[in-house]
Amino acid sequence: MSATISDLFAFHRNDGLAIGAPDRPWLTYAGLRDLVSHTVTALHAAGIGRGDRVAIVLPNGPEMAAAFVAVSQAAVTAPLNPGYRQEEFAFYLSDLKAKAIVLAEGYDGPAHDAAEAAGLAILRLGHDARDPAGSFSLRAESIAPGEPDRDTARPRDVALILHTSGTTSRPKIVPLLHGNVSASAHHIAQSLALTPHDRCLNMMPLFHIHGLVAAVTASLAAGASVWCAPGFDALRFFGWMETAHPTWYTAVPTMHQAILGRAARNQPVIDAVPLRFLRSSSASLPAQVMLELARTFSAPVIEAYGMTEAAHQMASNPLPPRRQKPGSVGVAAGPLLRIAHETENRLLDEGIGEVVISGPNVTPGYEGNPEANARSFFEAGGHRWFRTGDQGALDAEGYLGLTGRLKEIINRGGEKVSPLEVDGILMDHPAVQQVVTFAMPHAKLGEEVAAAVVLREGMQADEAAIRAFCAERLADFKVPRRVILLEEIPKGATGKLQRIGLAEKLGLGAA
Ligand code: ATP
Ligand code: MG
Repeated sequence: MSATISDLFAFHRNDGLAIGAPDRPWLTYAGLRDLVSHTVTALHAAGIGRGDRVAIVLPNGPEMAAAFVAVSQAAVTAPLNPGYRQEEFAFYLSDLKAKAIVLAEGYDGPAHDAAEAAGLAILRLGHDARDPAGSFSLRAESIAPGEPDRDTARPRDVALILHTSGTTSRPKIVPLLHGNVSASAHHIAQSLALTPHDRCLNMMPLFHIHGLVAAVTASLAAGASVWCAPGFDALRFFGWMETAHPTWYTAVPTMHQAILGRAARNQPVIDAVPLRFLRSSSASLPAQVMLELARTFSAPVIEAYGMTEAAHQMASNPLPPRRQKPGSVGVAAGPLLRIAHETENRLLDEGIGEVVISGPNVTPGYEGNPEANARSFFEAGGHRWFRTGDQGALDAEGYLGLTGRLKEIINRGGEKVSPLEVDGILMDHPAVQQVVTFAMPHAKLGEEVAAAVVLREGMQADEAAIRAFCAERLADFKVPRRVILLEEIPKGATGKLQRIGLAEKLGLGAA
């Protein structure tokens, strides 16, 4: 089925609750549909139409969620991280060929200055004072010259342009069609069996595919509700649970770990607001963390596998009564999923290789990056396959186990070490709360194994003890030569741990 994003919620109950947030009335499905049609009119009046790119720089929250949906109906949405500096905005606005920008009423920060300098049409999104139902309206501060294309979106039009997280290299520009986003939203709603009774507590940034599609668009596809927190904050999480009464939430593993750190003192909230399930995606969830989460919340933990180029979801662990396998990212949940040879363009019947996917949610290709496209797509067995850059294997039951990113595999003088395998062993150490294994430069071997570790509150362990623990459980070449104890491990904007570049950040030069 191919649809536009607005088609996903065209027929939900008028009074169904769509988008909520702290201290404001819910936007209903009728309100959201009105908002979409007002936004289309306002964009056309500002000279913006089909095919034009509109950057969105808004605080995380209901405005951002609604603006993404509404702007995509008339034009192309490009959400940007509001934390960028002016030079970064200038770079991204020009990289994206943005024609307009949506900002909050009253905002006069660096995105405004960059947009003004670039001569973009500036649109302001604010609460609609005439509408007690919590809607928003768009006002043009300046307009684009010329006549816009007033046709509304079609399934094969680009809906959304995002940059990848930049975990392994400079972020790549990924255009996603309406059909890609709506397919992924349906796949997620199906794997999670979402219904109008569900409510997602979103804390993920809405300039990243995970929050935009898994929390917002999948909820809208199902006629469910999404309650938008201003961002992630482990201290406020349990308060938000009490206010929002969610049935689920989705997060990256570092967030789940921070929540677990505060769970014991918030047991009454956990008991009072039972979750149907918790979802984890975007980075590897250590098996130990998954089991602790499931025990703490008395709910299944659904680890899923997603990426920007797939409009998020590729695989997901199933709901009970089927099994959630710790350490696995689940079974194909949307696109076809296979293992391919890492350098030759052919599919493998068994063993480890590069994970490849094919399906209606996959981007038609990177923008302005012919080298990446040439490497990323190939034809085999009547399908067009996309290379994910991730390494893994499928087990007999079709569950995918990831062994790491091809670019992050540590090459120790020719011996390949999976950082995920070493992470898994270190997480078994009773004093270890969080770990990231990474390559550190080595004069003779090229790369050597190192690990950064955060210890549990009140626990003690030193480098030698942790290395000895690894040596009992891992072949010698996989044992980290250095174990760096840290208070906190540096993360990217979407909360992901970055293995590449970590050695440099920690001042570990060639040994
Ligand atoms: P870049 O492509 O710029 O290096 P990125 O790949 O981190 O950045 P995203 O599209 O946000 O950008 O992330 C997709 C990647 O995240 C996947 O390719 C995979 O490596 C990782 N990932 C997603 N879900 C999981 C998971 N459940 N377990 C392990 N890794 C995951
Ligand atoms: Mg990537």
